[in-house]
Amino acid sequence: MLSPYLAMLEADALPLLRTWLGLSDAVSLRFLTHGPRVESKPLRVALEGEGRSLTLLLEEAAPDAKWRRDGWQVTCVRPDGEFSARDPVIAGWLRHLARRFGEPAGRASDGGALFETLEHLRLFHAEGIDDSQLRRLETATHGMRGFLRIGHRCNQDCTICPQGRHWPSAPEPQVFRWLDELAAVGVRHLTLSGGEPTIYPWLARLVERAAGTHGMRVLLQTNAVQFAKKRVLRRLTDAGLEYAFVSFHSADEDVSDRLTRAPGTHRRTVEGIRNALDAGLWVGLNCCVDASTVDGLEAHARFIVAQFVTPRAHNPVAHVEYSQPGAYYDEASMERAMVSLDRVRAPLVEALRVLRDAGVHADCLGTCGFPPCLLRDDPSLVSWRLAGRLDAHDRSARCHPAACDGCAARDYCVGVRREYRVLHGSRGLVAFSAMPDAVEALEVDPEP
Ligand code: SF4
Repeated sequence: MLSPYLAMLEADALPLLRTWLGLSDAVSLRFLTHGPRVESKPLRVALEGEGRSLTLLLEEAAPDAKWRRDGWQVTCVRPDGEFSARDPVIAGWLRHLARRFGEPAGRASDGGALFETLEHLRLFHAEGIDDSQLRRLETATHGMRGFLRIGHRCNQDCTICPQGRHWPSAPEPQVFRWLDELAAVGVRHLTLSGGEPTIYPWLARLVERAAGTHGMRVLLQTNAVQFAKKRVLRRLTDAGLEYAFVSFHSADEDVSDRLTRAPGTHRRTVEGIRNALDAGLWVGLNCCVDASTVDGLEAHARFIVAQFVTPRAHNPVAHVEYSQPGAYYDEASMERAMVSLDRVRAPLVEALRVLRDAGVHADCLGTCGFPPCLLRDDPSLVSWRLAGRLDAHDRSARCHPAACDGCAARDYCVGVRREYRVLHGSRGLVAFSAMPDAVEALEVDPEP
């Protein structure tokens, strides 16, 4: 349904590799496993034919590598142990490899397209990125929702980000192809994400294709820094953008700029949110709760009300979502920053009450959020959702620690992030002995 970009890259690379090595069509070539992120992971290609097999490990060349070419080295292994170079079939393959990878370093190479494709693939493999991180068809309460990640580049560099700024992504034509494929299966709601989508010059054309050509309602996940420039915002609204979900983590400029590692951008995000509201966009805010933001949650909620709700009765901020970041790209900073739930409870409840009293829909129980037992002292703050209705991709990042055994709310709870269990176990979780009455008022997804 959605074309597999990595498989297509592999399909491009294999004939290039076959031709460059000079192997006949009788030898079958295929890439082996794509797995989790492991540094310096080699690409693994299986050579098979005449009842023999050999695995090539292709990776960045070490200075002392025996067979190296254009910055790549190749080593040969067999999954079941040593191979015999005396075997005539294997020996023939090794001669091909030696001839190409053993050529003098100064000799001109004709492997440009091959090594370019391998390098692109190597980045995906090394970072454990697969197609599902670039595009998805999701189930939402209002039907199917498409998700496209435009790229990983960003004009900020948040400590809480799970992505690396250098991570590879699919090229523009592939993203447009996925958009058309999503439209073909009937998707009418689309989320565009990054990195930071607004720094990609072709974003407005993508929005135009989605909204104008396919009649989709488009939501943009953004830090809104670029919205401070009204002409950027106007291009997107003219293209048909209707919704913006903005990362806005703190009311304190210093705290925010330290978290985003982008000095001066807090001010521009605030201006961007105002501009987006003035332009008539539906605006929701995402606040990540970590060690740097947790103590300022109430002030953050009051700032939102004072800046984006009270003075903007015609189009106030519609929704605030609190989330607990997980799987930081920088794992060491995650250990310092992921706060335990017993520390989150009081400031988060206060923030939710401030927003509720101002008429803002606020939630902290989304698939990136917190468990319902965090709000057990005020169940009226809970937007109960059946866990089984949530998207399987999002649920896969969650788990139920030991304290959840026997909890009456378990069917309505996706638990905590897996990283939380590793760092804090069951800390802060208190099982419900019975479901609160409020569960009768099951709420639907507040997003448009
Ligand atoms: S105790 Fe566990 S199952 Fe119950 S609400 Fe908390 S996290 Fe969810």
